[in-house]
Amino acid sequence: MSDCLFCRIAAGEIPARIVNRTSTTVAFHDINPQAPVHLLVIPVAHWGGPADLESDSGQAAAGELLRFAARVAREAGLQRGYRLVLNQGNDGGQSVGHVHVHVLGGRPMAWPPG
Ligand code: 5GP
Ligand code: ZN
Repeated sequence: MSDCLFCRIAAGEIPARIVNRTSTTVAFHDINPQAPVHLLVIPVAHWGGPADLESDSGQAAAGELLRFAARVAREAGLQRGYRLVLNQGNDGGQSVGHVHVHVLGGRPMAWPPG
């Protein structure tokens, strides 16, 4: 989708501080970090959000995202732990309509998140 911010980051059309990528997934630093480490993990293919992942192909995309999130968290040195967040829709606080996993770490995370 040419008008989607994260599609354009995945395509290299908009710069981002990319930490790692595969042919199907990209991880980069969030522009407005909420923790000492705040990465975003996205599929190269456009999926709107978690609610779009019920199909078999969505399940595969979701599995790849989680696997890659675990890998970039390990590579970022988050052995003490980290938080993965996926926001869906308005009430979920989703502001970019391309599914993404937030990888947050480098400090203890509060719970509940509020
Ligand atoms: P959401 O609120 O949709 O779950 O998360 C979207 C995230 O994308 C936010 O944490 C926001 O800071 C980040 N973001 C928005 N625009 C950009 C951008 O142009 N570049 C990067 N690297 N992150 C962005
Ligand atoms: Zn997109």
